[in-house]
Amino acid sequence: MISVDEAIRRILENLPPPVTEKVDYRSAHGRVLAESLSATGDVPPFNKSAVDGYALRAADAAAVPVELRCTGESRAGAGRGSPLEPGEAVAIMTGAPVPDGADAVQMIEKTRRSADGARAAILKEVRPGENIILAGSEASAGEVVLESGRYVGPAEVAILAMFGHRQVTVFRKPRVALVATGDELVETDQAPGPGQIRNSNAPSVAAQLRQLGLEAEYLGITRDDKAQLRGSILEGLRRDVLIVTGGVSVGAYDFVEEILREAGLEVIFSGVAIRPGKPTVFARQGDRLVFGLPGNPISTFVSFELFVRPALERICGFASAGLFRVRGRLLLGVKHKAERTSFIPARLSWLPDGWAINPLRWKGSSDIIGFSQSNALLVLPQDRQAIAEGEQVEVLLLPDFWQRATR
Ligand code: AMP
Ligand code: MG
Repeated sequence: MISVDEAIRRILENLPPPVTEKVDYRSAHGRVLAESLSATGDVPPFNKSAVDGYALRAADAAAVPVELRCTGESRAGAGRGSPLEPGEAVAIMTGAPVPDGADAVQMIEKTRRSADGARAAILKEVRPGENIILAGSEASAGEVVLESGRYVGPAEVAILAMFGHRQVTVFRKPRVALVATGDELVETDQAPGPGQIRNSNAPSVAAQLRQLGLEAEYLGITRDDKAQLRGSILEGLRRDVLIVTGGVSVGAYDFVEEILREAGLEVIFSGVAIRPGKPTVFARQGDRLVFGLPGNPISTFVSFELFVRPALERICGFASAGLFRVRGRLLLGVKHKAERTSFIPARLSWLPDGWAINPLRWKGSSDIIGFSQSNALLVLPQDRQAIAEGEQVEVLLLPDFWQRATR
């Protein structure tokens, strides 16, 4: 059986080439740029005052206090046309153009205006250049300000808006189909009969996809029936990525892998040395990818985070793929059977001496209730049987870690 790292390596090796599209800059939020974008002009476009105060010649305020003649004003959006003469001061507002001839701005708090408004006393010394943001000092026209591969967050949206980049090229979102398998399953709005349970995996996977900004195309529950399953898989293969939950284990009615092979897909791996999630299957047909996730709710959850997430993130253009890792101090010793890497639900918190990790009590890979208390996954390596309290261990932050963290 291959290791988790090997499985992820094989997934990343088998991804389709990137596809891009043009979108309105506001919808680029949450996406990744597939083109580099340049400044369409200097920023700031003119020498700009950083404060409310008086524009002046620094040489006139070399010895303070000094009184200067007030000759007009420069407001944001409307500069003063004429240059500043020696001995003059011009009232100026934050963001307004600094008049020619002025080489500094003294902030209003360090001045006093005469009662008739004709003079301003400069009370503190001001250095040449002080409180002036020079034209082009933040960016000059033609300079690359957003490079291809950049995630578009609120700051990037501001940059796009500021330069008038209204249409931008981003990586296209994959279309993801979702199928739940199992004779025992009914949908949430139905009452389970004897031996039946409600389908909770399709909704949880759909929610995980939404965390990535993707909407699942849900194809419904498929019975553990080869013909029906084949139909669903073929339908799902019309999308970029198909996620099937359940039916990948060794039970008599676990048909997913067999059908994938019969349908001519290349099975890249089947089974990973991981707990939970061991029977995970990954297959491809040309540019189409299929993930078969084991049906126990935590197995589905964990194998999605470990295997499906990196694939989808890369397809969406993200350079890094997978959950963020940190190391922290284990607050309670843990043991496991050391032939597979275990991922254990845990609560990660910040203590005065650093990250601390509390492994949670849970009742195994179907216990979504116990699992739901976690904000991270504790990694127990394949080659370690026990890790003692106080040791440094690795955890993966769940994608909504910050919402789940107690601060
Ligand atoms: P399987 O992977 O199909 O062998 O299923 C393993 C376990 O997960 C069984 O107890 C199933 O009843 C349960 N299971 C499978 N699919 C789902 C689902 N969509 N929602 C909730 N539990 C499921
Ligand atoms: Mg099943």
